[in-house]
Amino acid sequence: MIGIVGGGIAGLSAAYRLQQQGYDVQVFEASDDLGGLAATYETDGDRIEKFYHHLSKSEETIVDLIEELGLGDDLRWPIGKNAYYVDGVVHPLDKPWEILAYPHMSVYDKFRLTMLTQEIDVRGGIPKFDTYERLEDFEDVPIREFLVEHTSRGVYENFFEPLLDAKFGSRKDDVSAAWLLGRIKFRGERDLLRGEPLGYLTGGFGQLVDALVDAVGEENITTGARVTDLDVADGEVRSLTAEVAESESEAVPAEADGGAQTETHDVESVVVAAMPNVLESLTGYECEIDFQGAVCALVTMEDQLTDTYWLNIGHDAPFGALVEHTNYIPPERYGGDHLLYVASYVQDYEEDLWQMDDDEIEELWLGHIEEMFPEWDRSQVKQFRLARNPRAAPVYERGYLDLVVPYDLSEEVADGVYYAGMASRAQYPERSLNGGIVAGYECADRISGRKRVISPE
Ligand SMILES: Cc1cc2nc3c(=O)[nH]c(=O)nc-3n(C[C@H](O)[C@H](O)[C@H](O)COP(=O)(O)OP(=O)(O)OC[C@H]3O[C@@H](n4cnc5c(N)ncnc54)[C@H](O)[C@@H]3O)c2cc1C
Repeated sequence: MIGIVGGGIAGLSAAYRLQQQGYDVQVFEASDDLGGLAATYETDGDRIEKFYHHLSKSEETIVDLIEELGLGDDLRWPIGKNAYYVDGVVHPLDKPWEILAYPHMSVYDKFRLTMLTQEIDVRGGIPKFDTYERLEDFEDVPIREFLVEHTSRGVYENFFEPLLDAKFGSRKDDVSAAWLLGRIKFRGERDLLRGEPLGYLTGGFGQLVDALVDAVGEENITTGARVTDLDVADGEVRSLTAEVAESESEAVPAEADGGAQTETHDVESVVVAAMPNVLESLTGYECEIDFQGAVCALVTMEDQLTDTYWLNIGHDAPFGALVEHTNYIPPERYGGDHLLYVASYVQDYEEDLWQMDDDEIEELWLGHIEEMFPEWDRSQVKQFRLARNPRAAPVYERGYLDLVVPYDLSEEVADGVYYAGMASRAQYPERSLNGGIVAGYECADRISGRKRVISPE
């Protein structure tokens, strides 16, 4: 049997792929719910992700999987409108004329920004089309230095800096130019006249998790089972031990410390599809990637706040962005309610935001939205639900690719140990559902020997 640690999208995808290749699998999920970071809330209509989710056009593996699982007709690519909030005004920034009309950058800055997003290097006045092809060349280049040299100070200060503040906060100066260039490539095709199509599964990505669970089979998944130990002998993994709420399997239960029951299962291989701290506690493998936490509210409202999907904030706000989901997927899908995500990343768990309780955050965030939109009134808020995750995204600092955890850990840990979690190569330059699926498949294919060739980890 192949043991899978974690029932998020990566673990379920690894299980699915391994089963297709004829393996017997068992997924162990510590919590009572499957889906990990793609977990959902109920609404008066469809379920909705606790953390905002959409797909980019460059992400193909998830689209193939959605089709393979019979959900292809539910995948839609609506335009997600982007805007920048500066000094009380929402400036749409998708169409060429909107960008031209944006008053907080000069025409020259807009030209330099556009050239960079088209991956054209116009330094020295002669356009070059291959400068940004090799991301490795920019892995050690600080993002600020790169942007000032390759665009202009104005582009950095008036466009990128507030975005970097929102995404990386105090760690923004550590991020590499390669990450930014990777993100530009990651976005995929845009509709020049309308904006960026973003993928969403009607009914929510919870449907994809459900379809994977159906495909893998509930009998091959144990929830409430935290893997606590991997047993290695003669350089090979032999078994895994899980603490379980109650024993449902045929394994012989034993008493663990603290009274919880444990089960030990013999395994041929193990795929660790969880955060690298879990890998470290199970195997001792130390990953040096730093993670940031996320605090994300879903605000259910009677009325619309703006007509924008993704609103970046050009001032120092207590949150990073306002993501109005029902300007992307119609409110009719949610019983007519309007749904707004308010999100912030946390670099340091000592930060005030991480220390605040949910009521304090609600007061702070809704109060700030009222200041930004004086005509908006919080009395029309029907519900405020808050999700937090201490490891929501890696900090893509310089030299990041040297820190990623290999899929196959036979040299570093023991034969039969594989890693598909967020610190894997597939989750660069952006962590995503697609990246989780790719990481799961990469491990499965290495186990089945379909990938003996050394490919980039
Ligand atoms: C704020 C936010 C916004 C996002 N936006 C997008 C987006 O727009 N588009 C997109 O595609 N992606 C987005 N993502 C990323 C996406 O959700 C993740 O990349 C993906 O869900 C990661 O899946 P995973 O299976 O690798 O990890 P996880 O979802 O973290 O799953 C790991 C699982 O392992 C379990 N586990 C941990 N320890 C153990 C143990 N010892 N034993 C057993 N089980 C264990 C956990 O409970 C968890 O269920 C976003 C994430 C966040 C936080």
